[in-house]
Amino acid sequence: MTLNLPYVGRFAPSPTGPLHFGSLVAAVASYADARAAGGRWLLRIEDVDTPRCTQAAALEILHQLAVYGFEADGAVIRQSERYEHYEVALGQLAHDGRLFACACTRKMLGSAPHNAWGEVIYPGRCRDLGIADSTHATALRLRVQDDADAQVAFTDRTLGALTQNVASHVGDFILRRADGLYAYQLAVVVDDAEHGVTDVVRGEDLLMNTPRQIYLQRALGYAAPSYLHVPLAKNDAGEKLSKQTRALAIADDAAVDTLNLAWSFLGQPEMGPMASVTHFWRHAAAHWKPALLRPATRAATVSE
Ligand code: GLU
Repeated sequence: MTLNLPYVGRFAPSPTGPLHFGSLVAAVASYADARAAGGRWLLRIEDVDTPRCTQAAALEILHQLAVYGFEADGAVIRQSERYEHYEVALGQLAHDGRLFACACTRKMLGSAPHNAWGEVIYPGRCRDLGIADSTHATALRLRVQDDADAQVAFTDRTLGALTQNVASHVGDFILRRADGLYAYQLAVVVDDAEHGVTDVVRGEDLLMNTPRQIYLQRALGYAAPSYLHVPLAKNDAGEKLSKQTRALAIADDAAVDTLNLAWSFLGQPEMGPMASVTHFWRHAAAHWKPALLRPATRAATVSE
């Protein structure tokens, strides 16, 4: 099922720290794509992983986005205010016999095979237990049937046709963690569907998650949005910019220059000096060309 609806895009930062150049690149791509399409752009704070997220970081991100001229359509969405929606989705999956309670610890799974990008492929240890044994100390996993549906094919707007067998490369994946927190995979799928997101534009680091998200959309009866994964900014050591690699926060006093750098990083032709972020965005909306994104190097790892 594909969507043919008015464009709705989104930017969905996790408030674990301020925005750095890498997160700015994803934000610029999603905003330029939405504005070029005359669409709406939603801002969603992904604060579902409460131990890692802080209110101070969320406020800092909102401030940075305002300084950089991003204007969200509608109120800011916070995942921490949407737990009942995730619970309804889990209820539907439980009703359909798609969930099981899993008591496996990280240690127990340590010897299980790992996929090419380092995640454990769930070996099915608890999959026959159902959810009757579900307690607060168990995770809930989605039963991924080893059938034709597990072979998920999708077309990324710049990377082209990609496939991944979710059963053999990921296995039954977690939707609610043993500590009671809702998993990113569940929250992102429920939120994108409920907010009518038609176009997901995000960093390539999330590419390996897309097939399982599409698998989950199908299990919940949702339509799939279209996907555009953009290249990742890396530091001199070749590491992805992140809090862990100590990426610097983008500065308030260099917004236009930093936006221009992100624009060039995305392969877009130089726009010359711009007097303000408003001028930058006017130009960006009129000249955004996703076809110029440089070819990704990671595409091969998702294909069989
Ligand atoms: N919250 C995720 C991140 O900051 C992005 C999720 C998404 O765009 O789907 O990496």
